[in-house]
Amino acid sequence: MHCLASAPAKFPSLSNPRKTTQEAATIAAMVNKPRILIVEDESSIADTLLYVLAADGFAPHWCATATEALAQFAAEPPALAILDVGLPDLNGFELFKRLQALPGGNLVPLLFLTARSDEVDRVVGLELGADDYIAKPFSPRELVARVRTVLRRSARQAPVPAATPISTPVTPGPFHIDDERRRITYYGEALDLSRYEFGLLRLLAQRPGRVFTRDELLTKVWDSGNDSFDRTVDAHIKTLRAKLRAHAPSLDPIRTLRGTGYALSEDLPRQLPA
Ligand code: CA
Repeated sequence: MHCLASAPAKFPSLSNPRKTTQEAATIAAMVNKPRILIVEDESSIADTLLYVLAADGFAPHWCATATEALAQFAAEPPALAILDVGLPDLNGFELFKRLQALPGGNLVPLLFLTARSDEVDRVVGLELGADDYIAKPFSPRELVARVRTVLRRSARQAPVPAATPISTPVTPGPFHIDDERRRITYYGEALDLSRYEFGLLRLLAQRPGRVFTRDELLTKVWDSGNDSFDRTVDAHIKTLRAKLRAHAPSLDPIRTLRGTGYALSEDLPRQLPA
């Protein structure tokens, strides 16, 4: 069972290689490198992937089994995942479906690693909704180019949180979300919201009472959760609250659950209090 973050092979090797690896992963996270999850049971292929991705400014993370990958993904969704089709414990296509079903899973671009000869695998992968495939054996330069292209494309395609489209009042409450105009009205008044304030309020208002953790909000509202931090969420909630208060000074519709996250209050009055 391997599940390791890696630095380029040239990273100074100290007496404890695992510690070095962890330090490298921490450093990578600190400088906001996009985290790439690699799920591949062949260590020689995984080593190549780890090396080329780390050398190119990514923070790659290797899992040798689907089980490890599911746990890693659930703990921290990556910016992108590369899945081998032939894994020991689960078929890569089945793993793809399970990853997609995890919170935020459908926002993470996925690439399949397939055998060059296996056209069927490529077709199945793309039909399932994978963003691209990489045929083995692959050239490192081509691989990095594909990863960059998919990340760019997904950042363009997913500016709005992927959730059920709603253009009618979400609850018989004070919020009305208009996705087409990217506008939210609050007691009949249109709010002037930034992109992320819109995303946050849209998500919270769809499920009054539902508690969203900061990680969930980062994953669902920001293009790439691992490029931001918890305090980013807090900062945007703060400005959002100020805008809501400007319209209705006596109400505070966003509840803070200390140490957990945020939820929209379930008991807001139907009419703006006089
Ligand atoms: Ca394999």
